[in-house]
Amino acid sequence: MTALLEAQDVTKIFGGGLFDKTRTVALEGFSMAIQRDPATITAVVGESGSGKTTLARLLLGAVSPTQGAILYKGQDLQRLAKSDARAFLTDVQAIFQDPFEVYNPFYRVEHVLTMPIDYLKLAGSREQKWDLVEEALETVGLRPEETLGRYPHQLSGGQRQRVMVARALIIKPSIILADEPVSMIDASLRATVLGSLQRLKEEFGISIVYITHDLATAFQIGDNIIVLYRGSVAEAGGVEGIVQKPSHPYTQLLVGSIPNPNPDHPWKGEDESAFLDRKSEPTACKFVDRCPMAMEKCLRQTPPLYQTEEHRAVACFLYEDSPAIENKEMDSVFKVNGRVK
Ligand code: SF4
Repeated sequence: MTALLEAQDVTKIFGGGLFDKTRTVALEGFSMAIQRDPATITAVVGESGSGKTTLARLLLGAVSPTQGAILYKGQDLQRLAKSDARAFLTDVQAIFQDPFEVYNPFYRVEHVLTMPIDYLKLAGSREQKWDLVEEALETVGLRPEETLGRYPHQLSGGQRQRVMVARALIIKPSIILADEPVSMIDASLRATVLGSLQRLKEEFGISIVYITHDLATAFQIGDNIIVLYRGSVAEAGGVEGIVQKPSHPYTQLLVGSIPNPNPDHPWKGEDESAFLDRKSEPTACKFVDRCPMAMEKCLRQTPPLYQTEEHRAVACFLYEDSPAIENKEMDSVFKVNGRVK
């Protein structure tokens, strides 16, 4: 079955040639596929520098891959025909970290809701247009009478973000790419925004790629999880199994920093003291400088993904007794219906 949106062995390098000091490998050999049905929430989790923002930009077509391809319904996103490009702009919607930046401060909030209705000709009459707006606001738990007529600065961060979820709902996409949608929102309001995203999946069959630095919220709403470390997949599969019993030493480190998954407990950044002075080769495991389990071969070789369970793949030599899978096979470990323990 052709996936709706797919990253096929994608590598993205910023900067010049091999000896250019500004050269950065932001994402390496990354594959994932979002099917049309059933809808799922895939959490992509990583620290700053893990490549998750680059992934979001690649999936939206904002940047092109250095190697590999992003496919929309089997067609290369960079070479879409005009009609397919228009379908893509409707089918794949984004929700960003800072909802305030998306608003024009001089327009009332209804402007962001009515604009796509007019542009995409989604309503046959003025009455139908306002029905669509009110219905979408109510679906995300906002009262139209308390929301419409206001300027963006008169709403809370959580309300502004839920208006953006309502906007996505009006457009009725197949996929929403939510890039850190709750990181600038008060902890008390995060649950309502995350709940709205979950409703989009459950009631409207919209798949969500939830990009975050926060393992706790990934656990809260994800079906599947991809843990990125310096542009490569460390571990991927069903979210419950991975968060409750992580296999990769890096995922263990992350989960260990959150004894009780709690949205109030953000994931801490890099611990510089954890870096060890190991003489590794450029082809070494990317985690070797921080890994308490590192072996001799980790200094020289990049581990492939090993499928350790039905719903888990781990890029670590500790699991080399399990069958190795290619990056492009990674989504075979994803669950497609319901959370997997
Ligand atoms: Fe650690 Fe080696 Fe596994 Fe890398 S491959 S995570 S260095 S044990």
